[in-house]
Amino acid sequence: MTTARIIQFALVLAVTPVVHAQQRWALKTADTSLTVTANADQLAITSLSFTGNASNWIGRSVRFPLLDHIFINNTSQPVRWKFLGKLGSHTVGETTLQFISSEPKLELLSIWQAQPGPGPVEHHFEIVNRSGQVIEVPLQPSLALTLTAPAEHSLENWWVEKGGDRPSDAGTHREPINDGYRFNGRSTPYAENREMIPWMSIHDVTGSAGVYFGIEFSGRVGFDVSAAGQPLKVSITAGLDPSERDFRSRLADGERFVTPTLFVGCYRGDVDDGANRLHSFVATHLRPPVPDARYPLVVNNSWGSGLAVDEAMARHMIDDSAALGVELFHIDAGWFRAVGDWYPDPGKFPHGLAPVSDYAHSKGMLFGLWVGWTQGGTESRGMETLAVTNPKQRDWFTHDYPANWKPSAFTGATVCLGDAPARAWCLNELRRIVTSCKLDLLEHDQFMIVDQCDRTDHGHTTSPGDIAYHAARGYYSVYDQLRKEYPHLLFEDCVNGGHTVDFGIVRRVHYISITDTYDPLSNRRAFYDASYPLPPSMCECYIENQPGPSLATFKTMLRSGMMGWCTLMCDTRAWSDEQHNAARRQIEIYKKWIRPLINHGNLFHISSRPDEARWDGMQYFNSQSGKGIVFAFRGAKAAETSHVFRLKGLDHAASYKVWSEDGSVAFNQVMGAKLMTEGLKVELNGLGASDLIYLQAQ
Ligand SMILES: [Zn+2]
Repeated sequence: MTTARIIQFALVLAVTPVVHAQQRWALKTADTSLTVTANADQLAITSLSFTGNASNWIGRSVRFPLLDHIFINNTSQPVRWKFLGKLGSHTVGETTLQFISSEPKLELLSIWQAQPGPGPVEHHFEIVNRSGQVIEVPLQPSLALTLTAPAEHSLENWWVEKGGDRPSDAGTHREPINDGYRFNGRSTPYAENREMIPWMSIHDVTGSAGVYFGIEFSGRVGFDVSAAGQPLKVSITAGLDPSERDFRSRLADGERFVTPTLFVGCYRGDVDDGANRLHSFVATHLRPPVPDARYPLVVNNSWGSGLAVDEAMARHMIDDSAALGVELFHIDAGWFRAVGDWYPDPGKFPHGLAPVSDYAHSKGMLFGLWVGWTQGGTESRGMETLAVTNPKQRDWFTHDYPANWKPSAFTGATVCLGDAPARAWCLNELRRIVTSCKLDLLEHDQFMIVDQCDRTDHGHTTSPGDIAYHAARGYYSVYDQLRKEYPHLLFEDCVNGGHTVDFGIVRRVHYISITDTYDPLSNRRAFYDASYPLPPSMCECYIENQPGPSLATFKTMLRSGMMGWCTLMCDTRAWSDEQHNAARRQIEIYKKWIRPLINHGNLFHISSRPDEARWDGMQYFNSQSGKGIVFAFRGAKAAETSHVFRLKGLDHAASYKVWSEDGSVAFNQVMGAKLMTEGLKVELNGLGASDLIYLQAQ
């Protein structure tokens, strides 16, 4: 670990006759060095480079657009900023630059953070209303800069889709950046289409280097990218959805508006090299602390039996899960009385859920529960339940519901978490559930963060971006408080699988369901995409029982969901003895060999994206332990019986012992250089078969 350093130096540019005090601050992580300059009414990034490397991505610095007007009584008022200087900070690596406006009286803080170790530099703005009256602020981007590529170098923009519903045929995008290139990437709280995870990597193919960006917010956010000229200049503006030109957020006197935190990081090598640095940063600085040393855990989720779960079935599933080596038993939807009535169904769980949790604990397992806690129904019992029919709660929902409206079995009406009383009820209800059901893990599902709400008393304006801003911050406040009170509780984000995936939610949960389609191909595709921006430990695949025609395809089903967080969603009681034995062995490998690599190794995408017609594979390698693994999959329609994977991240001069679980590779000793240039040949006879190939440096 290198300690982040901030070197501050002031330069006075004596340009006659006007003299401006121009000041610069250097922010430095182990791999990203950035200089920001402030003077008079201007703020700009003036250098950006890989730490220790002279080449600078900023050819021409671009002024950050600072908001130049606000609204008072719906009338636009111009704002003129004056740079005051750097504020004192007690946070290591933080630099806060202060601007003020004297009429109207406002304060604008530009807050930079360079964390220790590898990773990006982060930035956000805070706008404080000191005017003595209510104001409305327009859109303020969180980051603006222009990258300049070395002459004649080819650039690409890499970005990935969220895996909501079903991963598409594209998933991972790799777009050449030419003169005239335009990209408007957007992320909303609930992805409906082929939305991006708010991450992108501008990759210099010729120079083997790049710059990646991410947004730590779950509202409506995005990147606008445009490129022009030769050498190419790539302009990037990012933050709240740049297309929402009429955005407004309301601030009472003394209130502050906080823009989404943006991060920018530099890397050398390929996109995986940048992503691995980012993974380490996320695991160290963004993801909540991991309360269990075994993380990521092997889970069995009751959804393998759908809504049928009851106490007897849960106990049988716990017995079977324990015998397989599963570490957490999870009850999905089907346990409660009704949507919004989050008490155990007395017909199914006459003794409540605490005895089920006790039983899991007695078998050495943790206990988790699905709760759609933002969802209300029609069962109104005072404040015990959440219901659109309760006059005291009706206004918490985004709109009124007709008298004949009914929730479905596990989806209801969504409350707006921008509303303080709704938030308070949800937090209290979660406290009750976590305590009374003895939870080790809390999963949330369905709509969590709304961006449409008709109410006028929730603190937000009518701007979708502002509704999402308030709802996202409301969601954060509930989970931040709950985590403070229950520091050992694990949190899972499943918003119908893969609909809410961003670096804001990454700060609140331990893992994310990355898709809602659970067959082996969809799981591999979703993992291939999401594992660029996210640490693989956070990428959860649910494994649905699709064993295929053979024991080989049964193992492929399991392995396709074992590259990150592994959740079985199978009623394992239906498996044969042979399948049980195979599953027990895969889980044992996961815990002993794969999991340490997920946590401490680097991940490499060593094939094209899975498509069934070809082979696909992923590789982990940890240079400290010298251990690695290759997941090799022969597509279910791939005619070739063998495939050569070129490995990555090995030491050219080292010799590696290579062997495999199922015999697709003969036991061998091979030089790193050969594995990376000539590759590793894998042979699999059956369609849809797979193998795990182990590497150990000698
Ligand atoms: Zn609202």
